[in-house]
Amino acid sequence: MTDSIQKKHDGGNAPGGRLFVVSAPSGAGKTTLCEAARRQLPHLVYSVSSTTRTPREGEQAGRDYFFVTEAQFRAGIDAGQWAEWAKVHDNYYGTSARFIQDHLDAGRDVLLDIDVQGAAQILRRYPDALTIFIMAPSMDVLRQRLSARGLDSDEVIDKRMQNARSEIARRPMYRYVVVNDDLDAAIDRFISILKRGA
Ligand code: 5GP
Repeated sequence: MTDSIQKKHDGGNAPGGRLFVVSAPSGAGKTTLCEAARRQLPHLVYSVSSTTRTPREGEQAGRDYFFVTEAQFRAGIDAGQWAEWAKVHDNYYGTSARFIQDHLDAGRDVLLDIDVQGAAQILRRYPDALTIFIMAPSMDVLRQRLSARGLDSDEVIDKRMQNARSEIARRPMYRYVVVNDDLDAAIDRFISILKRGA
């Protein structure tokens, strides 16, 4: 058995593409950073997750998410379709195992935007994955950002803040932490981590 095949069986993804995992509490600016990465690093393959949540205004099926029913999602669990999956804010989210493995095997770098539960599962399956956690500079700033978005009621914001605390507690699991204080600086740091890791 050659070294590369051995590595694949061990769960590593060398010498194929590199797997990047990015997580953040909602409101930390992860979507903006990921959009910048998709623009500036067009070779990077963005993994489109499947979810049972309803589409938000402006979201496109197949670009932002694959929107599926709970029955479809559960069938995917039974079929071993997900490299990882989790229930986040009352909805299911999952990453296609086939999609990421095919791209990694073809030598392409893949970016996953998933929550902390999913990141832990990916690290078990792909111990070489490069993980990045994005944070707001403080809990006060995070709350201000969530309020300023105008998307959520006070009750939902309280719930998101509570989730944020438990997500932030798991940040030692990540190799890099990017504090999104100044947006341009955070984008530069995020992109440089992705370039260095590639
Ligand atoms: P939203 O519904 O706001 O787009 O995403 C909510 C949360 O679900 C975010 O933290 C996002 O990173 C996470 N998420 C999106 N796709 C996946 C996925 O495939 N797996 C997991 N575990 N989390 C996901």
